[in-house]
Amino acid sequence: MPWKCPVCGTINRDEDLVCRICGAYKPEATTKKISQTPRESIAAVAIVEVLESPIESLIGRKFEFKINTPGAIITVGRAVENQVVIPDPAVSRRHMRLIVTSNGVVVEDLGSSNGTYIIEGNNERLIKVENVGRQAVLKIGNTKLRIYLTHR
Ligand SMILES: [Zn+2]
Repeated sequence: MPWKCPVCGTINRDEDLVCRICGAYKPEATTKKISQTPRESIAAVAIVEVLESPIESLIGRKFEFKINTPGAIITVGRAVENQVVIPDPAVSRRHMRLIVTSNGVVVEDLGSSNGTYIIEGNNERLIKVENVGRQAVLKIGNTKLRIYLTHR
């Protein structure tokens, strides 16, 4: 049976033991086959750096999050309850979230009005849910963010 990833929500094929997007274990695989190994921990710092924004006071600002376990979530949006608050009027109140996994950051757009883009060289591409790896440049509204993971 296809299974839904508990971390990022992607539907994976039955034969996949790990999520094809974020690398999280299939729940059954975790209990049956990998139960002897201790649950992996990651000691990383996830950084969200504002590269460009109409909110000038935000430019150059770095939001840092210490990450201890895979699956940690960082929410990004215009509303104050987000962990990264971007008061750009073109950013949605709940715009996107970042899920930090052991093999990269999963970016998930939360149904924002203007979308979430990944910038690759001179191109930008709309994404819905995607593992962007250990570093990426994203655009939400008129704000560009660089996200990256470092070891601590
Ligand atoms: Zn997943």
